[in-house]
Amino acid sequence: LEQKRSPVVAIVGAGFAGTMTAVHLLRSGPEPLEVVLIERSGKFGRGVAYATKDPNHLLNVPVELMSAFCEQPLHFVAWMNRQHDLRGSAAFVARGVYGDYIESILQETERQASPNKVLRRVKGDVVRVIPQQEEFALEFTHGPRISCDRLVLAVGPMASQHALYGEGGNQIVADPWAEPGVSDPPDCPTVVVGMGLTAVDQILSLAESGNAPIVAMSRGGRFPFAHLPGLRLPVPSPVLPSEPVGLPVIERLVCEHIEEMARQGHDWRDVIDGLRPVTPVIWSRLLPSGQRAFVTERLRAWERRRHRMAPSVGKRLGELLDQGRLSTVAGSLAGIDRAHAELQVAIDTDAGRRRVACGRVIFCTGSGMDIRRSESPLLEDLLDRRLVVADELGLGLRADSSGALIDGEGSQPTGRLFTLGALRRGELWETTAVGEIRVQARDVALALGRSLTADHSGAHRERTALLSRPIP
Ligand SMILES: Cc1cc2nc3c(=O)[nH]c(=O)nc-3n(C[C@H](O)[C@H](O)[C@H](O)COP(=O)(O)OP(=O)(O)OC[C@H]3O[C@@H](n4cnc5c(N)ncnc54)[C@H](O)[C@@H]3O)c2cc1C
Repeated sequence: LEQKRSPVVAIVGAGFAGTMTAVHLLRSGPEPLEVVLIERSGKFGRGVAYATKDPNHLLNVPVELMSAFCEQPLHFVAWMNRQHDLRGSAAFVARGVYGDYIESILQETERQASPNKVLRRVKGDVVRVIPQQEEFALEFTHGPRISCDRLVLAVGPMASQHALYGEGGNQIVADPWAEPGVSDPPDCPTVVVGMGLTAVDQILSLAESGNAPIVAMSRGGRFPFAHLPGLRLPVPSPVLPSEPVGLPVIERLVCEHIEEMARQGHDWRDVIDGLRPVTPVIWSRLLPSGQRAFVTERLRAWERRRHRMAPSVGKRLGELLDQGRLSTVAGSLAGIDRAHAELQVAIDTDAGRRRVACGRVIFCTGSGMDIRRSESPLLEDLLDRRLVVADELGLGLRADSSGALIDGEGSQPTGRLFTLGALRRGELWETTAVGEIRVQARDVALALGRSLTADHSGAHRERTALLSRPIP
């Protein structure tokens, strides 16, 4: 007799998004079930953000807002109290500690899972997805294929897309998260390209490892704002337009709201935080031309205000600037020339071209913004086969509200491929932080459960129909 195997859900990517999807499936998904969690780094539960071991790399959100479960908002606070004797509120703890937290949730969930549920961790880099009747076969850079009934893409943000400056050895670091230990050699003058939160992390690590000058550059020449100390209440959002509007209408609305709230004694940061839950609604009310204008013209200004750094990190940057150890340049990168062991970085500023000599350049230019130009073999393959389609602006993939992906053949999801996190940016915009992804992980697991149960009862109906057919 042929024994039917358990349905298999494969999850590509074991950062926060993939790991929490696995956790929800193991806790409350259908039975029997095999969950295959696949991660190229071999580190399960950390992803790019929480793999760092540098204690200077802090969360940019206070502990009270970082629970992995939306239904248990103080879950992380309770874990911190048990593990680290957390003192006081509104703490910004090390991101590596947050990685320990997610890893421990996965381990505990696996220990407590029903015997009908199996978690398989696979270290590997998925490069191709081959549809085979009711299944998918996943192909890796190395090793045998894996078959699954459902597939979840939890691959995080796209790698940054910037001009290549040749083989840099350890002199040109194209992706600091993929190349750990960029502070070696320690005493080497460094230019950091980009001034977002990734750049801030790199500067903090460099500052601990020597005395050489650090030059940070970006078009605007400004770091993100810092949070105000303490746990703060977001200000409710203004009334939003009910019809699609252009970007100037939304900008005016937000600016007027900030001014009005300032008159009532509220800080602008609390107004920005109050917009967070309604950002997907605001995004959906923007005309496509407005969305495009936002991405090309306003992105950096928004990100500096929305993704702020911990107060202690802001203070440390201030000290480094005051000491002259760190300096900033506003301008765009014009080129990098190599002269023996030295690099010459050319920067076009308002005052003309400036050259900065250094021994190393680290690119911290953020994630790519056009999935159609992604260098991920997996995404390229999925798009080529039309198993998924990019949204209009190419910010992510088209999906329904549960994260079920829509393929190139129709307007309805097939219910077999799902995604969450950054790949939903085109539809939601605000979809890259724990606050949003923890809800998506629960919802994707629920939708997977529904889809597997429907399949099972469909198969059951088919079998019953066959049995009840009169024998000719
Ligand atoms: C430096 C930094 C700091 C942050 N700090 C905060 C914070 O304080 N608070 C907050 O809420 N959010 C923060 N974030 C946002 C963060 O992105 C989310 O919180 C969350 O970690 C995103 O998780 P993810 O699983 O979607 O993506 P990722 O963490 O990027 O995980 C995706 C995983 O998929 C793997 N992968 C990709 N492609 C493949 C493939 N083909 N095969 C196999 N594996 C693959 C990658 O190796 C990676 O581990 C931060 C982000 C960064 C980069």
